[in-house]
Amino acid sequence: MQQSEILYLFDIDGTLLLSGGAGAQALDQVLERRYGIRGAMASISPAGKTDLLILGEIFARHLDRAPEPGEVTTILAEYVPCLRATLAAATRFRLMPAVVEILDFLAGEPGVHLGVATGNSEGGARAKLEHAGLWHRFALGGYGDDVSDRAVLVERAIERGHRHIGRSIARERIVVIGDTLRDVRAARACGVRAVAVATGSVDRATLENSNADAVFDTLAELPAWHHRELKGR
Ligand SMILES: [Mg+2]
Repeated sequence: MQQSEILYLFDIDGTLLLSGGAGAQALDQVLERRYGIRGAMASISPAGKTDLLILGEIFARHLDRAPEPGEVTTILAEYVPCLRATLAAATRFRLMPAVVEILDFLAGEPGVHLGVATGNSEGGARAKLEHAGLWHRFALGGYGDDVSDRAVLVERAIERGHRHIGRSIARERIVVIGDTLRDVRAARACGVRAVAVATGSVDRATLENSNADAVFDTLAELPAWHHRELKGR
């Protein structure tokens, strides 16, 4: 039986991979070079935040002002090549458990489409996923360089999903998977399913107190959940 379409939107950091500090190191380098700010990321907790929100917090703390839109563009343009270099040198970069297996599994499921919904800028997301050999797995995305509100980037990913597939997908057949409460809240704001995975910086008990539809220890639990909740419905 032909199933109707399902769209999975994956967060990147803490969900698919951990860059092992490569992201923070690259942003630190750019901010020190351009603004003389040293160790900008040391005082920021970036989990679940968009790059735009992170830059806003750093500017408020160190420069007592908001970044101009042009400055953000310039910083992120410099950040991407820097990130590629720090990724190439990273010793603690790693994929989260079962990532390749579940992407293989979903690629084999009829009607399943894969995208990312990440606070990373598009260039940053691409650098991290290319380093992991995973960029080609995702057909579309919502990114953190043009919006600071995570719900807005999820909505953009959903719109791109509709365009990619050629028609609207029912909200209950769209799944956001992330490792923070921000991922869950953004999914809820968009009226789509929220799956939280405890491989990032937030523990399982905290994620269980969010109103996620499901909480996994690792992504290895995804195929069973997919079969139970979505397949054949
Ligand atoms: Mg994350």
